[in-house]
Amino acid sequence: MKRIGILTSGGDAPGMNAAIRSVVRSCIYNNIEVFGIYYGYQGLIEGHIEQLHIGSVGDIIQKGGTVLYSSRSEEFKTEEGRDKAIAQLNHYGIDGIIVIGGDGSFKGAKKLTERGIPCVGIPGTIDNDIPGTDYTIGFDTALNTVIEAVDKIRDTATSHERIYVIEVMGRDAGDLALWSGVAAGAESILIPEVPPNMAEVVDKIKRGHERGKRHSIILVAEGVGSAVDYADQIKNELHVETRVTVLGHTQRGGSPTAYDRVLAGRLGAFSVDLLLKGEQGRMVGIEHNQLVHHDIIEALDQKRKISKDLYELSNQLSI
Ligand code: ADP
Repeated sequence: MKRIGILTSGGDAPGMNAAIRSVVRSCIYNNIEVFGIYYGYQGLIEGHIEQLHIGSVGDIIQKGGTVLYSSRSEEFKTEEGRDKAIAQLNHYGIDGIIVIGGDGSFKGAKKLTERGIPCVGIPGTIDNDIPGTDYTIGFDTALNTVIEAVDKIRDTATSHERIYVIEVMGRDAGDLALWSGVAAGAESILIPEVPPNMAEVVDKIKRGHERGKRHSIILVAEGVGSAVDYADQIKNELHVETRVTVLGHTQRGGSPTAYDRVLAGRLGAFSVDLLLKGEQGRMVGIEHNQLVHHDIIEALDQKRKISKDLYELSNQLSI
């Protein structure tokens, strides 16, 4: 392997730049040429490709987003689109690719591997919804963004006696809501993995009120439904004022936390090592603080489970 390409695809996440930096510097350290492929798979099809050097990735470790930009490409999902992508790779002499993204991006990487281009996937998404790794790059940063917002909402919630219902991202996964709910001390956390028990949510608010509690914070993962609907249910049951905040894309931005930067650095270098050892069609991850790699598709077939312990703890601490 002499030339490796790197691309970011799907939803962006803080820490992707630190991963790009790690891949680029690790390639150069190993005397491998490295090419940045801009705008994800669509940019690959269109040939937005240039060689990267040590300095190309200077001053990006602290930046959110992705300097290689991202895209969603319908064309790449077709055989004809992938033919064009392969023609570009042949033109540039790129013989391996590292893809940073989510499960959709990994499916694309598998398709390229099947066409003879060895690929390795690095999990980068704030949703923490990829099996085969305990954490994805960007999750920790998003978590910190959410708790900062919840802490601020709590200040105003205490001043007025209100129920705040806050919707967080996570697609079909409840990790972001669960972890931020525990970290910010939410009264109830609604996640797609556990069917919502609204009677219990309402009861908890009532119990709190009887103790003299002036506010409640309910975290809703987007995958379990709209915060507006849940707030309406609470309002109709209890005849209290509710306020809804949908945190939205603020959760995707910001400077990556130390954890995400270090994770990105480790996974980036590990991916280069794997390609140089002749591995292909793998995804990298971290489990029990050890770097691991799995078949990229078999890993996705596993159902990712929520941490049951953490969920039970959240109930215990918000009695
Ligand atoms: P994420 O990687 O964040 O899950 P998407 O699901 O949008 O984001 O996937 C990113 C891109 O990966 C898609 O726009 C498409 O180009 C490519 N992709 C997704 N699924 C497939 C597939 N089954 N075959 C080929 N390419 C795919």
